[in-house]
Amino acid sequence: MTRCISVFNQAGGVAKTTLTQNLGYHLGQKKQRVLLIDLDPQASLTTFMGLVPNEMTTTIYQTLVLNDPLPIHKNLHGVDFVPSNIHLCAAEQELTAEIMRELKLKKALSEVKNEYDFIIVDCPPSLGILSILSLVAATHILVPIHCHYKAFMGTDQLLATISKVKKAANSTLEIAGFVPTLLDKRASQDYRMLSAIKEQLGALAPVFSAIPRSVAFADASEEHKPLALYKKNHPAVMILEQIADNLIKL
Ligand code: ADP
Ligand code: MG
Repeated sequence: MTRCISVFNQAGGVAKTTLTQNLGYHLGQKKQRVLLIDLDPQASLTTFMGLVPNEMTTTIYQTLVLNDPLPIHKNLHGVDFVPSNIHLCAAEQELTAEIMRELKLKKALSEVKNEYDFIIVDCPPSLGILSILSLVAATHILVPIHCHYKAFMGTDQLLATISKVKKAANSTLEIAGFVPTLLDKRASQDYRMLSAIKEQLGALAPVFSAIPRSVAFADASEEHKPLALYKKNHPAVMILEQIADNLIKL
C-alpha cells in the first residue's frame, strides 16, 4: 500500500521542507519508489531540488485548478518530484467555488499512486485549504517540531485541525510521528523543550530522535543536495535514516 505522508506544521521554519527532501532521499536509497510534492507557494522544496520555481510552466497549480496530470520530474537524486511556484497562491481563491475541492489532491494522487511506495507532501506554513487538501489525501502525518520554547505554540490548533479532518473526510488518517528539529546541542533550554515534547506528545504518536541544528543542512540545500550527499558522515544522516526505516514499517 502506498503511504501518503503529509509533512505538516502551520509554523514556518520548523524544517518541514528540509525533512521532506532528506527523508525522500533516504527512502529512495532504500529502494522505495518515492514521489515528493511541493504544496507551498513559497516553493522552497522546488529550489532545494535544484529547479527554478519561476521557470516552471506547469506546477501542482495546474493539477489542482485545471485538473491537468501531475507534472512529474523524474529521478532527482533518486526521487520523482512535482514542483510549485508562487502561482499556487491563487489556487486558494480559485478553488473556493469548486465542488468537492477538498478531494482535489487525493484524486490527482490516485492516478499515480500505484507507481509509488511513498508520496510525501511538503505543506505550506498555514492551516488553509492547501494544507487541508494534503491532510485529506494523506494516510499519515509527520509533524516536525522546533525544539524551542515556542514549540507548543499552535500545537493545539494543529491537533484540532487533524482531528477535524479525521472526522469530516479521512477517518483513517494517522500521525506517523513527531520529529523534534533544530535542537541546539549547547542550549539546555532546548533539551528541556525536548523532554516536554516527549512527555506531552509521546502519548499521541512516536517522538523520533531529535535532529540537531547544523549549518550543514542549509549548506546542503544551497547546493540542492540532501545532507547525505553533501556530508555523508554528518551525525544527522543516521537519524534521518532511522526515521526513514520507521516510515517503511508503517
Ligand atoms: P519549513 O519548511 O518548516 O519552513 P525549512 O525546511 O525551509 O522549514 O527550514 C527553514 C530553514 O532552516 C532553512 O534555511 C533550512 O536550511 C534551515 N534548516 C533546516 N533544518 C536545519 C537544521 N537541522 N539545522 C540548521 N538549519 C536547518
Ligand atoms: Mg517549507
